[in-house]
Amino acid sequence: MKIRIAFLMCVLALSFQPLFAKGSADGGARNTAVAGKGQAKYVFLFIGDGMAMSQISTAEVFSTARSSKDINVTRLGFTQFPVAGLTTTFDAGTFITDSASAGTAIATGNKTLSGVINMDVGKTKSFKTIAEYAHDAGMKVGVVSTVTLNHATPASFYSKVPSRSNYYDIAVQLANSGFEYFGGGSIDQRTGKNKDQEDAVAIAKANGYTYIDSKEAFNAIKPGAGKVIAVSPVLQDSGSMPYEIDRKSGDLSIADYTKKGIELLDNPSGFFLMVEGGKVDWACHANDAGAAIYDVLALDKAIGAALDFAKRHPRETLIVVTGDHETGGLTMGFAGTQYNTFFDKVGLQKRSYVAFDEEVLKPYKARTAATAKLADLLPAIKESFGIDYNALSAFQKEQIEFAFQRSIGNEQVRSFAEDKYLLYGGYEPLTVKLTQILNQTAGIGWTSYAHTGVPVPTFASGAHQEIFGGYYDNTDIFRKLASAMNLRVQ
Ligand SMILES: [Zn+2]
Repeated sequence: MKIRIAFLMCVLALSFQPLFAKGSADGGARNTAVAGKGQAKYVFLFIGDGMAMSQISTAEVFSTARSSKDINVTRLGFTQFPVAGLTTTFDAGTFITDSASAGTAIATGNKTLSGVINMDVGKTKSFKTIAEYAHDAGMKVGVVSTVTLNHATPASFYSKVPSRSNYYDIAVQLANSGFEYFGGGSIDQRTGKNKDQEDAVAIAKANGYTYIDSKEAFNAIKPGAGKVIAVSPVLQDSGSMPYEIDRKSGDLSIADYTKKGIELLDNPSGFFLMVEGGKVDWACHANDAGAAIYDVLALDKAIGAALDFAKRHPRETLIVVTGDHETGGLTMGFAGTQYNTFFDKVGLQKRSYVAFDEEVLKPYKARTAATAKLADLLPAIKESFGIDYNALSAFQKEQIEFAFQRSIGNEQVRSFAEDKYLLYGGYEPLTVKLTQILNQTAGIGWTSYAHTGVPVPTFASGAHQEIFGGYYDNTDIFRKLASAMNLRVQ
């Protein structure tokens, strides 16, 4: 009887592991626990910043529309994970969280106010993060982000500050974290806001970090190198990695930084690696669906690197994918296109809004100050966004002309100042209007230039995946990860 029960439990436990039921390379006494029962020793947490279901679905429908007219969904790798859940995102002060309080919730299990990283609402008490618990338990820890390494989401795994904009303090805490690997964007304000502080990178080096910012050094760095900070050789807005849509072939991607993390962190005591696709959020703030979609697809590729690793350690690897909140109020469907979508049009976009600003609009404005006219830019608009101006409606043409006038500094074209934010959200008017019109033509709508309060999906694959099913709060992710890793947390 006893044997039969044990056998049954074994079968039940194995049934939680449909992806990796066979071929474990983790034999031996230490690793005999079956999936769902043993410790998750190699743990990946992927966070799409601003990535809720609409960002994911849009990327999936785009992937379909690019290759066929079928009404179908080309699934991303991570949406095929065996377990999916829904996660609430509100913080201690608002239904619409920011990345700092959302990061705090995910990393420490505590609600706090927007703008605060890993401190309580009174900004006196600090919280220990899941990455720090893992590190204290002997696991190696890595933090990867496409945005700056001391931006709110990555900072939520190693720093404690009353304000997310204390970039220098966060940079110093990064340098003192002891975590084995940081990779992706640069370190913002590394010598302080006024450039008069000790260089945080120098502090990191004194703490034993190797700092690399060239592709050659990135390729050369191997396990055994010690602690590493690897900054992208190519940087875009605010010191972040380039948008995937703008990344030149051969330049390092988020998948490359993830693979390097796996290579450097892999060790018998396990690791915790957080990877953030940070610019899904930035693109959605600017209402640029094309840039957001390509960054979701790039994040999916990085997750693929984790899945490849999981094949080698199927019983001990856990991969969790979530978002910290939705951004932009992105939706599939627009009043002007009603029940139709034309997502293939998004595929005509060749530049992010940032690249258009930097490479086209700014140089044009500098050249033509007094004589600027929209006609000059129409070829570049066609090339960048696939928008054929002559094929637009009179209303769309008027919107673009108004936005152009505003971009060149002619503020007299509208009588209401208050509509400026609603129309352009503080971005370059012409550029945001072009992405909006491209998106609307494709059947994609936006409601905001900020975050929204809808829940996000969370996907899980691997050891203890089953605990990530259901509808729960973002603070529960911390507890679920701790439980999967067998960490005793408070
Ligand atoms: Zn965020």
